[in-house]
Amino acid sequence: VHRNPGEGEFHQAVREVLDSVAPALDKHPEYADAKIIERICEPERQIIFRVPWEDDSGEVHINRGFRVEFNSALGPYKGGLRFHPSVYLGIVKFLGFEQVFKNALTGMPIGGGKGGSDFDPKGRSDREVMRFCQSFMTELYRHLGEHTDVPAGDIGVGAREIGYLFGQYKRITNRYESGVLTGKGLGYGGAQVRREATGYGAVFFAEEMLRAVGDSFDGKRVVVSGSGNVAIYAIEKVHQLGGVVVACSDSSGYVLDDKGIDLDLLKDLKEVRRARIASYVATRPHATFVPGRSVWEVPCEVAVPSATQNEISAADADALIQGGCKIVVEGANMPTSPAAIRAFEQAGVRFAPGKAANAGGVAASALEMQQNASRDSWTFEYSEQRLHAIMRDIHDRCHATAEEYGVPGNYVAGANIDGFRRVAEAMLAHGLI
Ligand code: NDP
Repeated sequence: VHRNPGEGEFHQAVREVLDSVAPALDKHPEYADAKIIERICEPERQIIFRVPWEDDSGEVHINRGFRVEFNSALGPYKGGLRFHPSVYLGIVKFLGFEQVFKNALTGMPIGGGKGGSDFDPKGRSDREVMRFCQSFMTELYRHLGEHTDVPAGDIGVGAREIGYLFGQYKRITNRYESGVLTGKGLGYGGAQVRREATGYGAVFFAEEMLRAVGDSFDGKRVVVSGSGNVAIYAIEKVHQLGGVVVACSDSSGYVLDDKGIDLDLLKDLKEVRRARIASYVATRPHATFVPGRSVWEVPCEVAVPSATQNEISAADADALIQGGCKIVVEGANMPTSPAAIRAFEQAGVRFAPGKAANAGGVAASALEMQQNASRDSWTFEYSEQRLHAIMRDIHDRCHATAEEYGVPGNYVAGANIDGFRRVAEAMLAHGLI
């Protein structure tokens, strides 16, 4: 804590991982001898830079850009960029740290990193977003490369932003290096199912958790928070598997629709019109918009938090438990506060941490890199099959590792230990670097 003052989210993420990997350290004294813990908690490189840009009225703005290249033991740094006013070093480091273990869990050759800016794209015109992205990439490009560091999207960074970032990278370097960014448009090197992958993947993971106890999504009442990229495709997959998502949200409140969220309407609002969730009820008058309240007050059997960190407080967890929730699957990164995780454990609610459950996004990114490297493109069906197999595999390994360590059903321990072991073994093999 004294080494990284004021980085609350980073401390929270490190504490959670260290709490669960202690038994692995007992089994492997060689990790302690090589100071793996000290090294794994220290990013390999951290870049902070100025991003000046001009808005449509000619006013100059200065934002701060970040890229934390956390660990490259398993492959090039890989992880998204987040554009949101709350972004500061502590958030980028927590996300980068989580990313290291998540990427290891996918079994694919990718290291971990994360970046972003405190820029707020909300309410900005396309041209303003483009100018910001160009300025951001004008510094970042020198640190990137398909074998070095490969960013993707996250909160506030979707297909539009990736397009502008890729265009500027190409222009500055004079290289058509498709594998330098993932989440690209389908027309220029993007991969099928990347857009859907995080949401679909989280629901595939939940399906495996249900299957492990002889259950399924059929007829299940589900709540998904957020209404961005992860939330929309989580809702789509739940509906395909026979569940009903009755509520979703944005930072202004939530909508409750007992007939099931109308996905075409939601996509139109969020992907095309970039509107607020409140406007959902204008076309679905039987639905209600509840401003300023937490979506977790809506009773459900399965909860898929897909908005942001620490969005489920201890009080929200109690409300979910009272409402009959049996499974919580993190679509977002660290959406569940430590007190809420403890409450779920005590109440016997099965809980899947984001680093396992939302790994589908980065796994599909690794598949995009694979297609770019071989100048190939796969069909939607084949790409979805690959994603599905990866999510099943992650589930089964978390499950098996939890059993191996005497904590059956504890997906947090299973995910942390399995991811940690993979990174630690590679670091040992590479010597003291
Ligand atoms: P988007 O920007 O597409 O959507 C974010 C959604 O969350 C929006 O509905 C937004 O509402 C809401 N939200 C954001 N911040 C807050 C807040 N402080 N309070 C309440 N609601 C908030 O982002 P993504 O869907 O891509 O990402 C969501 C989560 O999933 C993040 O934790 C991200 O790190 C994680 N994730 C994303 C992956 C991906 O592939 N995209 C991969 C793995 C994890 P509003 O518009 O009002 O801000």
